[in-house]
This record gives sequence, C-alpha cells and structure tokens, in this order.
Amino acid sequence: MSAPQNTIAIVYDYDQTLSPSYMQDEVVFPAFGINSEIFWRRCSELVRGQGYDNELAYMKVLLDQLGMDRPTNEELKKLGAKLNFYKGLPEMFEEFCGGKGLLTAEHAAYGITVEHYIISSGMKVLIDGSRLAPYVRAIFGCEFATDNEGRITFPKRVISHTQKTQFLFRINKGFLDMAQDVNDHMDPEIRPIPFPNMIYVGDGPTDVPCFTVMKKNAGQAIAVYNPDDSQRVGFKKCYQLSTHADRVKHIAPADYRRNTHLRMLLEQMVEETANRIVEQRKLAVETGTVRAPKH
Ligand SMILES: [Mg+2]
Repeated sequence: MSAPQNTIAIVYDYDQTLSPSYMQDEVVFPAFGINSEIFWRRCSELVRGQGYDNELAYMKVLLDQLGMDRPTNEELKKLGAKLNFYKGLPEMFEEFCGGKGLLTAEHAAYGITVEHYIISSGMKVLIDGSRLAPYVRAIFGCEFATDNEGRITFPKRVISHTQKTQFLFRINKGFLDMAQDVNDHMDPEIRPIPFPNMIYVGDGPTDVPCFTVMKKNAGQAIAVYNPDDSQRVGFKKCYQLSTHADRVKHIAPADYRRNTHLRMLLEQMVEETANRIVEQRKLAVETGTVRAPKH
C-alpha cells in the first residue's frame, strides 16, 4: 500500500533567506536594550575562545545579558509580530499556501497541495509569532525551556546548520512531532513528502548540508541573496556555491514578488513537480499498481 505522495513542500531557511536582517537584532535587542555589537562580540569570543557551537553561544549570551529580566516565551512570541521580511512576503506565503494560486484544476483533482516549512538556527518562538506563521505547516528552530515562573532558562532544543538536515528527513517522513524518532525506518513509498517533491531555499554556506541532501535525493534547491547589498556579500556566496562548488544549481535575488526571477523559479518547480505527480498517478492507474479500496 503506497501513500498518495501528492504534497509539494517548499522548505526555507530564515535569516538572510526570508529576511535581510538577523531576528535577534531586529526585535529582541531593541526590546531589552541589548547592544548588538557587544552581544555578537561575546558570542564570537565563546565560539573562538571556548569552542562553543554558534547557536549555544548566542543562547547563553542572551540568557546572561537578560539576567533577571528573562522574558517568557509568550513575550518573545509577541516580539515576533514585528519581524520584517524580503519584498513579497508574507504575501507569497499566502498565495502559494495549499497551491490555490499555482495549480491547475487537474492538479487539484489529484489532491496535489503545496506546504511551507521553515528550518532555522534562530529562535523558533519569534517565527511562531511572525506574520509568516499562519501559512507555515511546521517551524523548526532553537527553543528555550522555562523555569517555574515561565521565564526562559536553558536551551531546550538547538538546531545547528549541520543538524538542519535532520528536519528535512522529518518533513520527508511526516515526523513533525519531536517525540517521534526521525531515524525510525520508513519505506520510501509511504513517506508523505518524497525529496523530489521538495524545494529547499537557503542563502549560503550554512545551508550547504541541506543543499547536499536535496541534490543527493533528487530534490530541488535555490540559493538566494540580498539584491540591495551594495557590497554583494550574499551574491558572492551564492555565486561561489553554484559556479565553483557545484552545491546548488539555481541562484536568485531574494525578492518574492510576482514576476521576479525567484518567483518564476519557484512557480516553475512547483508546476513541473505537480505535472510529474499527475503523470505518475495516471501511469500507476494504467498499470494497475493502484488497487481500488476494498470497502
Ligand atoms: Mg540563513
């Protein structure tokens, strides 16, 4: 018995992929009077001087700097509402959600749908509170546990850039609940979202492990860069990844409005994937590999 496998997933990194700024700088530091320069300097001291992982370093420095003023997760979630994104967002998330603005009547007849997912090494609770959240099936990111008073107190989940790939497999297997073991065996034909139905959008070297998983498993990937950066830092990272390192096939400016290069790439990938799913289903019916339900 095989699963319908008619969901197309678009999976995004967050910082620099959906937003030109870092989420802590944008909404957390202003709310708590934290100096950005000192904050990130302390983080790099922990990373370079004491061998910390980047994500644990920022979580520790945040807890240290907040001291007695540690907020609740609910307070942090409210700050997420102030997050801003690249042009065309959150509109594109709404327009693509479920595939209604993208797919044909035939696609819909085959039950094909489009879902958004976000995998970030930033703070999940901020994205949960953002204007993107209503259109996203699942958001994965670093999380804080809370003390008896509900204030954040210790890292509960850390997603480093190498660990991000685990969440691609969670999406692939439909294991969105953290209590499920992502390493449990599941036959490819019953995985809800096969990799060829997946599109990964990231911005740079921290997304290389995910780009590699997509490439190995016949998924699709796009590296995006900030077109308004006059120094072209993001563009050069993307150019390097596609032209010299052969990590990703497509690069595009991070502009999600209609008729942009990125939007056309995403629409083309979704359309071709949907057409392929229809062809496979027709073939399966013709060759009799799909049996009618018994009851
Ligand atoms: Mg990023």
